[in-house]
Amino acid sequence: MGEVVPAPTRVPDTRCWRCILLNRLCDRMPICKTCLDLGNDGLRILSCKRGEITKDFDEAFSGFNEIAPGTWWYRSGDRCWKMTVDWEKFGRDVALIYGVVDWTWLLPENKRIARGATIVPFLDQFANARWHEVDGHTTIIHSAAYLAMACDLPTPILAALRCLVISYNIGQIDANMPFGWFVNDDFGYDQYEIQQGSYEPRTPAQTSTFYPEIVVERLSEGDPLLEEPIRPVYSDDCLATLLRTTVESTRVLLLKGDPTNWPSVFYVLCILLLVHSDLDVASSFTDVFRTAANSLYHGIENLAALYLHCCEDMHPLNDEGIDADWFHLMVGPDPAFDPEEDYFRWNNAWLETRTVAHVTLTATCNVNEHPGQPDERTKTVKSFLRHLTQLVDGRVGF
Ligand SMILES: [Zn+2]
Ligand SMILES: [Zn+2]
Repeated sequence: MGEVVPAPTRVPDTRCWRCILLNRLCDRMPICKTCLDLGNDGLRILSCKRGEITKDFDEAFSGFNEIAPGTWWYRSGDRCWKMTVDWEKFGRDVALIYGVVDWTWLLPENKRIARGATIVPFLDQFANARWHEVDGHTTIIHSAAYLAMACDLPTPILAALRCLVISYNIGQIDANMPFGWFVNDDFGYDQYEIQQGSYEPRTPAQTSTFYPEIVVERLSEGDPLLEEPIRPVYSDDCLATLLRTTVESTRVLLLKGDPTNWPSVFYVLCILLLVHSDLDVASSFTDVFRTAANSLYHGIENLAALYLHCCEDMHPLNDEGIDADWFHLMVGPDPAFDPEEDYFRWNNAWLETRTVAHVTLTATCNVNEHPGQPDERTKTVKSFLRHLTQLVDGRVGF
């Protein structure tokens, strides 16, 4: 069963990632001798990198304060805004039945008791139909949650899914904000009350609909928050900290060089892309999340480079279609899968993704950039992430 992965605290290994994986000494030059000897082509996927990926996260996420679950505030010019996504309008009990909530909601009053026991109910929100009801991204998230439950060792999937709950709330503001309402605008409204919360009790024959209450308000003169400088409130439960934990513990997991960890890493990359997507679309109503989104994508690129370096073409998006053994390793513990039927469904979906991607690329990109080399498709970090983004976006009807 999965456990929370603490952020790595040991004295950091200062060797470059390639030398750590090869268990070699590293001369710590900007490009070490091991990496230099590979030449440009050998460094195409992974250059000589070392240390943490998320060094700039503090700065990148400092534009907004997460003061409570579902509540942020930020300053734009001399105005200060507070945004709230409230699932508790009808009480916490209703939210626990119909919503997807953060892990901390499930902890008993005395947090020292049974922290581990609350992990399964948290993951179960994603493994059962609940996540589908609120978001619709099912297959990837569903399998990721099952894998996390089946892991004997700590898995970064848990922290990644907690990030997804938070970014989903941010995405809810964007999804419900009327087109053209840019909250930073000095000439805009003082308050955007987007939608009253509502829910329809579930009956056996129907799925529920459950909406949060969303309020975005400009704080007036004299509000105590205005006297506060913007500073990050970094608790263990805020997005910046959880993302850092997710990315760094995934990096540490990859550097162990154990292939059985690769499926978890694949799912973490998928979930991080969804988190990035939520932050990215939020720039339609405020630019406050933009720097954070850019920084996160940079982190995903670094992680993807290390992942591709480790597993080469042993990943589900390789050009030959999905490897059957690899697929079964990925979904192994999930009783909801029919091994044969679901393999063909995934494989067909992937082949279709490639076709769609190829048509899109041909239509939108400079043909000189993509001169039809078949190995270009997933063998660079950029193209791998482009294909993975299409997979998690479910554009091919997963
Ligand atoms: Zn080295
Ligand atoms: Zn190196």
